[in-house]
Amino acid sequence: MESHSAPAFAELIEAVRKVATEVASAHAADVDAKARFPIETLAALREVGVLAAAVPRALGGPGCNVQELAQICSTLAQACGSSAMVLAMHYIQLACLARHGMHSAFFRGYLKDLVRRQDLLASMTSEVGTFGDTRSSICAVRRSDGRFQLDKDATTGSYCAHADAILVTCRRDEDAARSDQVLVLVRREDCTLTQTTSWDTMGMRGTCSPGFKLASSGREEQILPGAFADSSAQTMVPYSHILWASLWWGIAAGAVARAASFVRGQARQTPGSVPPTAARLAQLQVQLQAARQNWLGAARDFDAVAEDRDELMGMGWALRLNNLKIAASEATPQIVHGALQIVGILGYKNDSPFSLGRHYRDALSGSLMISNERIAAKNASMLLVYKDAA
Ligand SMILES: Cc1cc2nc3c(=O)[nH]c(=O)nc-3n(C[C@H](O)[C@H](O)[C@H](O)COP(=O)(O)OP(=O)(O)OC[C@H]3O[C@@H](n4cnc5c(N)ncnc54)[C@H](O)[C@@H]3O)c2cc1C
Repeated sequence: MESHSAPAFAELIEAVRKVATEVASAHAADVDAKARFPIETLAALREVGVLAAAVPRALGGPGCNVQELAQICSTLAQACGSSAMVLAMHYIQLACLARHGMHSAFFRGYLKDLVRRQDLLASMTSEVGTFGDTRSSICAVRRSDGRFQLDKDATTGSYCAHADAILVTCRRDEDAARSDQVLVLVRREDCTLTQTTSWDTMGMRGTCSPGFKLASSGREEQILPGAFADSSAQTMVPYSHILWASLWWGIAAGAVARAASFVRGQARQTPGSVPPTAARLAQLQVQLQAARQNWLGAARDFDAVAEDRDELMGMGWALRLNNLKIAASEATPQIVHGALQIVGILGYKNDSPFSLGRHYRDALSGSLMISNERIAAKNASMLLVYKDAA
């Protein structure tokens, strides 16, 4: 065990609260309006060591589990949904390295360096021609003399232009089937990126996620050991659905906080009486609390079985995580809609302190980000053979 001075979770979450209230909230509207990367927020997170939160303690990191990472993402999302999505996507990639790269000297070294450098990791799973199916690749990694070459035409690459490295899915080799994939760590210095599409979207504008053509080469040791089938089921899917659900909840909580502040303002204008909007706020809190319990419960249960890799490969977990993703992405816009009904026109206006446009638009991305229809279709197939559903 190595000695280190990584911050404990209590320190990290306190630092994230401060970044959320002092930095992210101050820039969220501008990030959204200009569809620009939240550079100030990411710089502030880097400064307090938050980007290394998922690095194991043995490698000098804080070693946060998924419950802790989810709390960090949900806290940041209350101020800026795009910043929280960037952080969540970074943690998902980091968790893949931390949970599947520990037997590789290269990846252990990379993770140690990440604690010091606070590198930002992006992801390229999407590809022109695979239609949103992350478990399928057309591009293949080519290996020779201890080196690799990899080119990919990705439809959506969040903050790839701002990342220090990208984890790229591809076929294991040129003869492999589309589902026989590996993950490759492509560092900025290993690649050229050519932007192919724009990112002028309704919401999540600060994630800066256009399409990119990637051309890369590097050392063979940058290919994550093992199959992506395993790292996907044991880490990428659980971390994605739990962290996304937590940050979508944070967006909803941010909207409800604006509604609550509006209701308190109304109450101050009519001392001694409870405004009718207060009852609607109370109902909204019920939905908000239920949504929180869903991701918290999944995170707690995941942490309890995190090292039981066989259990995580089972259909029970796949169904539970898929259900969480569908429920969270459906609940978030509904809760934001409820907040808008409470606030009324001041929530509808873009230039009011109670504005809910950004929350609403950001929330709508959830059901598309790996389409709920695609996930529901997978669940439907699994339920034909899975008998233990309670
Ligand atoms: C904010 C945001 C950030 C993203 N960041 C990244 C990133 O960093 N890296 C990355 O690789 N990708 C990223 N993505 C892309 C994401 O991972 C998905 O690949 C993408 O959202 C799916 O695109 P699609 O809707 O065209 O695909 P599809 O899943 O093919 O969906 C197209 C349509 O087909 C329907 N459909 C699909 N399957 C079925 C089915 N079985 N039954 C019925 N209907 C079905 C869907 O409902 C939808 O209407 C991001 C997406 C968003 C929204």
